[in-house]
Amino acid sequence: MIIVMKNYAKEQQIMEVENKLVELGFKTHPIYGEIKTVIGAVGDKRLLDTRVLLDMAGVDSVIPIMKPYKMASREYKQEDTVVDVSGVSIGGKEIAIFAGPCAVENKEHFFETARYVKSAGAKILRGGAFKPRTSPYAFQGLQEDGLKMLAEAREMTGLKIVTEVIDPRDVELVTQYADIIQIGARNMQNFRLLQEIGASMKPVLLKRGISSTIEEWLMAAEYMMLEGNQKIILCERGIRTYETATRNTLDISAIPVAKEHSHLPVIVDPSHSAGTWKYVSPLSKAAIAAGADGLIIEVHSNPKEALCDGPQSLKLDTFSQLMKELQIIASAVGRTV
Ligand code: PEP
Ligand code: MN
Repeated sequence: MIIVMKNYAKEQQIMEVENKLVELGFKTHPIYGEIKTVIGAVGDKRLLDTRVLLDMAGVDSVIPIMKPYKMASREYKQEDTVVDVSGVSIGGKEIAIFAGPCAVENKEHFFETARYVKSAGAKILRGGAFKPRTSPYAFQGLQEDGLKMLAEAREMTGLKIVTEVIDPRDVELVTQYADIIQIGARNMQNFRLLQEIGASMKPVLLKRGISSTIEEWLMAAEYMMLEGNQKIILCERGIRTYETATRNTLDISAIPVAKEHSHLPVIVDPSHSAGTWKYVSPLSKAAIAAGADGLIIEVHSNPKEALCDGPQSLKLDTFSQLMKELQIIASAVGRTV
C-alpha cells in the first residue's frame, strides 16, 4: 500500500508514520517530494486496520496497490525511473545503446569491437564471461579472465560494462567488475539469485524469461526491489511461440504494456529475438518506435568465427549503419540516440 502524506507534512510526522509501519512489520520505501511525500509499505496488511495510519498526524490517505507486484508498479511510483549507471542514464530522453559480443572471447576481438561500438555511439559494452549454454559441451565463457578483459575495455574506452551472472555464488565476484549485472532469460525466476543481486544494489538488466508472462517478469523485478535495489532495467528479448522462423518472437507489445504497468525502464534485445543478424535492424527500429528506452545488440568483429551467437551478431559496419538509421526513428518519437 501507499501512504500519501499531506502536502508539506513535517519531517517528524513522516518519521513517525515510518516508525509505525516498521513496528507493524512493514518494509518502508519513502519517496520524498518537495511538496508531497509518499511512503510505500510492503508487508502483510491482512492484520492491519488502516485507521491506525489515517489517524496519525500528517497522513492524507492510504491507497492499496492492487497489482501483485508493488514497488515495481506504476501505482507505487508514477514517474518513470531513470537508472543512473555512473553518469549514463537509462530511461531518460536519450536512448541507451548496449553493444558487444555475446561472449568475451579474446582481447584482440573484444577490444576492437569495444573501440568500434564506442565510436559508433554505444554507451554500454556487453560481453558474457559466464555463459548459460544449452549444451554443456559449448563454450562456457572465460569467467574471471573475461571479467578482467571487460574491466580493461572499460578503462580503455570509458564505456560502462554489463555482464551476466548465472550463479548466486558468483554474485560477489561479478559485482566487483560489472557496472550492470545481467540476469539472463533462463534465470529470471532463480529467486535466490534475484535476492542476492537485489542485495548487491548494483544496477541490473533483467531479461524476460523465455516463456514468462509480463506479470511474472515484474514479479522478478519485485524480488530485487524488495531487497532495496531500485535500479532495475527490464529487457524484452523475445519469447517462445509456435513460430520457428526466428529464434524467438519479439513481443513488441511488452514494451507499452510493461511501461504502462511499471515505472521501470524497458530495453529490447533484438539479437536473441531474431537469432539472425538480418532481422536485427528492423526489430531495433520497431522497438524504438514502440517506446523502448534502449537496445542491447550483439556485435562481433568477425561473426563467422564467434564462439557464441555468431549468426545473430552484427558486423561492425552494419552496427554503425544501424546507429545512423536509429537517429531518424528516435527523433520521430521525441527521443535521441
Ligand atoms: C545473452 O545476452 O547472451 C543471453 C544469453 O541472453 P538471454 O538470457 O536473453 O538468452
Ligand atoms: Mn548471446
